[in-house]
Amino acid sequence: MSLEHVTGLTCVICDATYPADEAGYVCAECGNEGILDVRYDYDLVGTHIAKESLAADRNMTMWRYRSLMPIAPDAAVPPLTVGWTPTYDAPRLAVSLGLSRVWVKDEGRQPTASLKDRASAMALVKAREVGADVVTTASTGNAAAALSGLSASVGQKNVIFVPESAPQAKIAQLLAYGSTVALVKGNYGDAFDLCMAASAEYGWYNRNTGFNPYMTEGKKTAGLEILEQLEWNVPDAIFVSVGDGSIIGGIHKAMKDALALGWIDHAPRIFGIQAAGSDYLVQAFEGDEDVLTKAPISADTLADSISADLPRDRIKAMAAVRETDGAYLRVSDDEILTAVPVLARGSGVFAEPAGAAAYAGLAAAVDRGLVDASDRVVVLSTGSGLKDVASAMKAVTAAGTEPMVIEPSLEALKTAMVRVPDYRSPRRGEGTADPEDRG
Ligand SMILES: *Cc1c(COP(=O)(O)O)cnc(C)c1O
Ligand SMILES: [Zn+2]
Repeated sequence: MSLEHVTGLTCVICDATYPADEAGYVCAECGNEGILDVRYDYDLVGTHIAKESLAADRNMTMWRYRSLMPIAPDAAVPPLTVGWTPTYDAPRLAVSLGLSRVWVKDEGRQPTASLKDRASAMALVKAREVGADVVTTASTGNAAAALSGLSASVGQKNVIFVPESAPQAKIAQLLAYGSTVALVKGNYGDAFDLCMAASAEYGWYNRNTGFNPYMTEGKKTAGLEILEQLEWNVPDAIFVSVGDGSIIGGIHKAMKDALALGWIDHAPRIFGIQAAGSDYLVQAFEGDEDVLTKAPISADTLADSISADLPRDRIKAMAAVRETDGAYLRVSDDEILTAVPVLARGSGVFAEPAGAAAYAGLAAAVDRGLVDASDRVVVLSTGSGLKDVASAMKAVTAAGTEPMVIEPSLEALKTAMVRVPDYRSPRRGEGTADPEDRG
């Protein structure tokens, strides 16, 4: 293993730095709160990767940035295609929000349908580096599905802890991929604590968010892609939904890497969006509270992927917003549900509630004048709407959208069509049968 481009892992609390091959998961002095941050020799990294080499690189996966990741140049990576998700221009959303440009990055396109694949793919590489027999994680569902699917792609044994209340689709993924699944009678915090105890007891490789320092390094590839896909024209703002705060920390890390390498000359403002029922970081931001001492809250939101009593990666998460002059904003579950069809209809991207929350946050930021009409904004849609069909049905019902339920006859259709708002008369009778327009 050659990791000479990694100078060490530095504790986010006390700044102690550990060499890559001696670092544990967390700081030996600070314990589990002492999350480590991977540091690089950017001069050395810069000899292996540049904007020009990226432009010529035909590896359209997250691994195109491997020179900027804490893995050996020849490390085997899982075969599933993770990363390089599309960043769609969404002009109708931009018009409706009164903004210059809006892009939606669709992480629902990942192999297990959420951004978590980026971190879980990294976890597998690191687990195999140390010859782990079993890998494990606790999760609200998506990190679990990601570790489960990536493990299946290489035949890696794994044990997964999720709250019993996780959406059915996410549990189905775990079972289909063949994981050993523990449905924990409790919330995400309970699942997390049990997973921690189990991995210590059995010696399993632990992927837990806000504990395993390498997860940020996987998630940051979403931020690097945003920059590269926008041809290194830095957007004015990036909107990210926040539970544990690991994704937003990863996006920030991408910007810090790109700055250090001279790929960009300033960072975008980063906005963190939380559900009103799970707003630990919004509270801390508004009240200027110290996230090291602020007590957990009691989270309750239908956006299960961003439900967290105590955001595990809260130090990095707060730095992402503070150091880029962004903000933490809360949106209600109703606003989140409203955003699901608005985003889907305005861009074609169908997001689960936690993904649509980022868009709801952008709408809230526009209302509050936190972004300017001239701004160019990226919304990170973190997971697919198919992850949580029950919530999607709630969302379309709340939007007053109903299907026509009809007998299988043209007469029945005609009767029903009269009530469709954009209804036009049938073409027949107008004498305008257009062969181009039959689909
Ligand atoms: C995990 C997740 C989030 C939140 O990420 P954190 O790192 O926990 O802040 C948001 N949306 C989706 C779909 C997720 O799976
Ligand atoms: Zn420390």
